Amino acid sequence: MDRMSKISYIHDLLTKKQMSCEEITKKYLEAIDNHNKELNAYITVTKDTALESAKRIDKKISLGEDISMIAGIPMTMKDNISTKGILTSCASKMLSNYVPIYNATVFDLLNDNGSILLGKTNMDEFAMGSTSETSYYGATSNPHNLDCVPGGSSGGGAAAVAGNIAVYALGSDTGGSIRQPASFCGVVGFKPTYGTVSRYGLVAFASSLDQIGPITTSVEDASIVYDVISEYDPKDSTSRGRNQEITFKLLKNSIKGKKIGIVDDFFEYTNENIKGHVEQAIKVYESIGAEIVHIKMSSIKYALPVYYILACAEASSNLGRYDGIRYGYRTPKYRNIDEMICKTRDEGFGKEVKHRILLGTYVLSSGYCDEYYKKAQKMRSIIIDDFKEAFKLCDALIAPTAPKTAFTKNYISEDPMEAYANDVCTVPVNIAGLPAISLPCGSDKDGLPIGIQIIGNRFCDGEVLNIAYAYEQETKNTSFKSVDMGVRL
Ligand code: GLN
Repeated sequence: MDRMSKISYIHDLLTKKQMSCEEITKKYLEAIDNHNKELNAYITVTKDTALESAKRIDKKISLGEDISMIAGIPMTMKDNISTKGILTSCASKMLSNYVPIYNATVFDLLNDNGSILLGKTNMDEFAMGSTSETSYYGATSNPHNLDCVPGGSSGGGAAAVAGNIAVYALGSDTGGSIRQPASFCGVVGFKPTYGTVSRYGLVAFASSLDQIGPITTSVEDASIVYDVISEYDPKDSTSRGRNQEITFKLLKNSIKGKKIGIVDDFFEYTNENIKGHVEQAIKVYESIGAEIVHIKMSSIKYALPVYYILACAEASSNLGRYDGIRYGYRTPKYRNIDEMICKTRDEGFGKEVKHRILLGTYVLSSGYCDEYYKKAQKMRSIIIDDFKEAFKLCDALIAPTAPKTAFTKNYISEDPMEAYANDVCTVPVNIAGLPAISLPCGSDKDGLPIGIQIIGNRFCDGEVLNIAYAYEQETKNTSFKSVDMGVRL
C-alpha cells in the first residue's frame, strides 16, 4: 500500500461506496489527535471545516455525481500557503495572529476539486531552514525516529504524510524544502518546474526560487496532485502552467533507451552509505533499459554560495513588509514609529530569519552589491547554461537528495554552515528553475530513510515523474520500512 497510489485507493473506496468520506476524514482527525503531540506536524487542525467538506462529498457521491480523483482525500498544506479564514503563520511569531482574507490559488484549485483540508503544517520559520526546528510552534519530529528532525522546511507536511496523518501535503521548495524532508521521512517530494504552479498566496521567501509542490507516498499521487495544481494563473506574473496535457498519462511509459546522467559534483559531500544506495538505484535503471551517461558540470560547486546570496537578498526585501503597521505582530510598548518597527521586527522574527535578513541586506548594500549579488546573478546564468548543456546529453539526472540522513534534533542548530552545506544537492535545481523529485531508495543502518533525486529539464515534469515511477515500480517489492503509525485503510 505504501508505494501504491493512496489517492486512487481512497477514490475507489469512496466511489464504490465501501467507506464514506466522513468516515475516512474522521479516521484521519482521530489519528491527528493521537499522534500530533509526538510529531508536532500540525500547527492548526481544521476539524469542523474538514467534516463539513466531507459531508458535501458524500452528498455528491450519493447523488451519483462524478468526482475528481482528489475529491474527498484528506490532505494538509504548509503554513505559508494562504487560507482564507484560517491562520497562516509561516511558523513565525510575526504572523502568529495572521488570518488571510484570501486563498492561495493552489488552495482554490484543490477546493474546486473537492479536497479535504485537515489543517496547516509546521515548518521552519518563513521556510528558512532544513530541520523544521526554527518554528515558533516548536520542532516537528521524524516519524521514523522521534529524536530526529523530519528535515525542512516543509518538515510538518513530510512528517504528516510519513506518519499517515494526512494522505498528501503541499509544501514549498526554495532550495530543497520539499525534497529534503521527503527524503528524511521516506516519502515522495516533487518540486515542479518554476512557473508551472502558481505562487499567488504563497508567502514569499525568495520569489525567483520558490515553488509549491506535493509531498505524497507514491509517484502516482505526486502526479495526480500536480495535474490539479499546475494551472496557468493570471494572478501570478511568472505563472505558465504545465506543459503537457496531464502528467498522469505519461506514467507507465517505458524508459527504455532514456539517458540518465550522473554528475560527480552532486556526490561530493555525500556519505558512503547514501552513495551506495544511489549507485544501487543506478543499477536498477540500467536493468530496466536506461542508458547511463557521465556528465561534467563545473558550475555545480558554486550553487550553494549563489543560492545563499540570492535567497537571502530576496528574503531581505520580501520580509521588509513585516513592520507592525499593516498586519501581523506589533510590539506592545513603543515611544515612536521607529522604535515600534525596530522592536516589532526584533521580537517578531526568530534568530535564523534575522540572520538571513542581515546577510541579504549586506549583499545588496552599495559597495558590496557588485561583489556579491551581481556576481551571484552572473553565476546563476552560468549554472542555467550548464544544465542546458547537460540536458543535450541526457533526459534526466540522478543524484542523492541530501548528503546525510535525518539529523538528531539540535544537531545543527548551533552551526548554520553545516545546515547550509546540507542543501548542496537540492539548490542547483531551484537556481535553474527545474523540476526534480525525491523518492525513497532504502534506509541506513539506523533505519533512517534515504532518498534519490531525479532532475529533469524545464517543463519536462511529466518525464521526471515517469522516470521516477519506473524506479518505484521496479523496486516496489523490495524491503522498505514504512512507519507503523496513523491511519491504515
Ligand atoms: N534549506 C534551504 C534554506 O534554508 C531551503 C529552504 C526552502 O527550500 N524553503 O534556505
